[in-house]
Amino acid sequence: MRNLITGGAGFIGSHLADYLLKEGEEVVILDDLSTGSFDNIKHLVDNKRFRYYIGKVEDGRLFEGIVDSVDRIYHLAAAVGVQLIVEDPVRTIENNINSTQVVLEHAVTYGKPVLVASTSEVYGRSDKLPFSEESEVVYGPTSRFRWSYAISKAVDEFLFLAYNRQKGLPGVIVRLFNTVGPRQTGRYGMVIPRFVKQALTGEPITVYGSGEQTRCFTHVLDVVPALRNLMKTKKAQGLVVNIGNDEEITINDLAEKIQKRVNPKVEIVRLPYEKVLGKNFEDMDARRPDLTRIRQLIGYHATKTLDTIIEDVYNYYREEWKPEI
Ligand code: UDP
Repeated sequence: MRNLITGGAGFIGSHLADYLLKEGEEVVILDDLSTGSFDNIKHLVDNKRFRYYIGKVEDGRLFEGIVDSVDRIYHLAAAVGVQLIVEDPVRTIENNINSTQVVLEHAVTYGKPVLVASTSEVYGRSDKLPFSEESEVVYGPTSRFRWSYAISKAVDEFLFLAYNRQKGLPGVIVRLFNTVGPRQTGRYGMVIPRFVKQALTGEPITVYGSGEQTRCFTHVLDVVPALRNLMKTKKAQGLVVNIGNDEEITINDLAEKIQKRVNPKVEIVRLPYEKVLGKNFEDMDARRPDLTRIRQLIGYHATKTLDTIIEDVYNYYREEWKPEI
């Protein structure tokens, strides 16, 4: 089985590459290294079943040739992270929509199944928890750029579902809930690598808002086997599927947990959202997945606890110190 991973030098993409290779499959990745990093894949370059291309999905010819040569496509290339969305909304909206359109067009031409990575951001600011795949989505005004990310990913979902229904394209949409682990950078806002890095360097841990907002974190090593499993599952074809963990924690408790584990001497400070993310920023109070569908489809359950996630991120940054995180 030969797989193409777009965004394969990114955090989740590179773990998926590791996993598929471990399962004996072949992997081709395409990444423009805009948010991904060569460091994430350098340990794979001597593997005969691995090949990489640095470029964009939108570079039509290159991409078409690659699609023709593979059996399955994992479309993970996307603009990620709340901070990037706020700082560079043009790149976020254009990247997300254009690249998915190109992937789907070529996939349908060559008859290759596609997994499209979406996000729990798609649920927007809905407060009807837990979020199940058929739940309503609720967005704020278009003047608040956070929602542009949610809506661009919702358009990606509509595009896939339309190709699936109208043109018979096989594949699946996955909505990922706060996936964390080694190789994730805090540069685009993600909270756990940021808190771990702050504690490691002795800078104050920065809790945004009241810190009473909650999230559910999932280890990337629980996510990647589920991606492959869903691709292989007939009943999953044409569906939207949540992947995550349903154990909630407040950001205050998370900050204390990381402080205790990494550096008990570090200070925890609270910063108003407008100071760090601008005046028009809106956050969600809570986000918890309903995992009924994925349990029924592939018997999924998250195996790794938040303590393991923190430990793994901590060890990664201790060993592979990256000053730019
Ligand atoms: N957050 C925080 N301090 C940081 C970065 C993030 O308090 O330095 C908060 C953020 O406001 C949100 C939560 O942590 O409520 C999760 O943020 P992240 O960007 O990791 O993911 P999100 O769920 O917002 O996509």
